[in-house]
Amino acid sequence: MINPERHRLSVYQTKPGTWDRERYSVFDTSGHIVDNKNGKPTLDSIRKWSKKSGGDLDRIDLWSSKLNCSSCGSLIDDRFSSTSTGELLCWDCAMSRTEETDSRGVSHTTDPTKAILSSSALHHKNLCNYVINVATGCTHGCKFCYVPSTPNIKTRAEMLEDQVNVDDGQQEWGSYLLYRDDLPERLARKLDRKQKWDSKDGGRGVVMISSGTDCYQDRRAAQITRGCVIELVNHGRPVRILTRSPAVVRDIDVFQAADGLVTVGSSIPCLDDEKVRSIEPGAPAPSTRLNALEKISNAGVPVYVSMSPTYPTQTREDLYEQLRIFKERLDPDVVFHEPINPRGGNFDMTVQAARDAGQEKLAKELKKLKDRDNWIAYSKRQLTAVEEIGEELDIPIHLWPDKQFVKYVKEDKEHFKRQIEKNDSPEDYPLNPTSA
Ligand code: SF4
Ligand SMILES: [Zn+2]
Repeated sequence: MINPERHRLSVYQTKPGTWDRERYSVFDTSGHIVDNKNGKPTLDSIRKWSKKSGGDLDRIDLWSSKLNCSSCGSLIDDRFSSTSTGELLCWDCAMSRTEETDSRGVSHTTDPTKAILSSSALHHKNLCNYVINVATGCTHGCKFCYVPSTPNIKTRAEMLEDQVNVDDGQQEWGSYLLYRDDLPERLARKLDRKQKWDSKDGGRGVVMISSGTDCYQDRRAAQITRGCVIELVNHGRPVRILTRSPAVVRDIDVFQAADGLVTVGSSIPCLDDEKVRSIEPGAPAPSTRLNALEKISNAGVPVYVSMSPTYPTQTREDLYEQLRIFKERLDPDVVFHEPINPRGGNFDMTVQAARDAGQEKLAKELKKLKDRDNWIAYSKRQLTAVEEIGEELDIPIHLWPDKQFVKYVKEDKEHFKRQIEKNDSPEDYPLNPTSA
């Protein structure tokens, strides 16, 4: 493990004056100036500056710096946030601000949560043992998203009403976003202290960023993500990125410097941009996700694909073509596959969204899945097809059959049961596991 402290830079004012004449300098831990800048820094400019100053795994740490709240002037040495334009705010000022609404009608503000690094049950899917979420809410607003039906949203109704005036976290999913700007600073201190590290049950000690929001959905979220990845890598912890956003390519420098400790994946359920857009209204098109992942793979960084959730309109030929393209352009370490699940209140919203977008056939086929036998037959067809095609094309496949599916499927029950019980992903990652 490298010394994380050595990779934390700090910012001090080195010349006073009126705001555009003030000079701020970036210092390394030996007290040497590595960069200078005129004018008062915002959180946004510090995060950008962080990327320019020092090496790929260096970051400017706000708590090691001497910067002040843009509203009350107090020193930032504890929790902090920022305005949407990046002005630094101490915690008291951040908490007393009302939400802001952007040009897309999305309400955003500060997330008051104390959560930093949470243990996760996603080791069942061989994804990780821990998750980090850089925000609450997700502007991609995928209609089938399970996140708004989890306790993270359901039990925080009061907070959502207070912070972003949201009455129903599920119905209004996609229209609010609460950032955790100080997460890199808080994570850094937590990792400095944390001795015990869980790597049980196929989770490989991996930290996934992120499970409940898209960690590269916009610049502010991406800046938080970059800081968290740098801290994790500097502490020798393996990281799994999962995103639908092509902006992930901006951090290729960090992924390369991580030397096998970071794997990057994208959810690419289907390659038909229009169909995907109909039920993932705010997310970038799958063709752009594929391009981004290709760039990352070409840069020598391990990549994977989450083919989840696939649609009932996808034929075996479609699945073959999709997997062939993954093999040819990405050569992924693994493709995880999961058919769509018709359970939960959001499934009706998914069918309606497909219909509203003019995807009548998709809407009709999705609706048929509400009949359990139809869903079992469709799931079996797709899981079997993906497994067989993977074998034919020599692509490591990891199936995620649903527990209810395994309960009700008649043929090959034991085979699918073994897929659930399988305690390992076929990935070689992490290449450089923690020695801490
Ligand atoms: S990108 Fe992920 S977290 Fe965001 S809405 Fe879609 S499924 Fe949910
Ligand atoms: Zn303040």
